[in-house]
Amino acid sequence: MRLTPARAASRATFNDKTMDIICTCCGEPWSIHHILHDAPEEFIRDGALITACECCKGVRPKLSEDAREYLDSVAEAASMFGDDLDGFACFLEDFS
Ligand SMILES: [Zn+2]
Repeated sequence: MRLTPARAASRATFNDKTMDIICTCCGEPWSIHHILHDAPEEFIRDGALITACECCKGVRPKLSEDAREYLDSVAEAASMFGDDLDGFACFLEDFS
């Protein structure tokens, strides 16, 4: 079953554990709170799509082909979620 952004967002409201989204450049997970409130200046992002974080600074690390493919598909999904970071975190949890 495909998880639509709307469905993911409605699930997120019933779920108060820490929600992470990952940097699509290096795969590092970050809590949404950290991205939005602690160090927003460290991230280059377009809504839920993070293309650089304080760990990689936008420089793609050497990853296995599988890991890179995974990050590419995560990036594709992230752009569908727009500014819905919670919905995207929920989606990632199911996806990983
Ligand atoms: Zn990164």
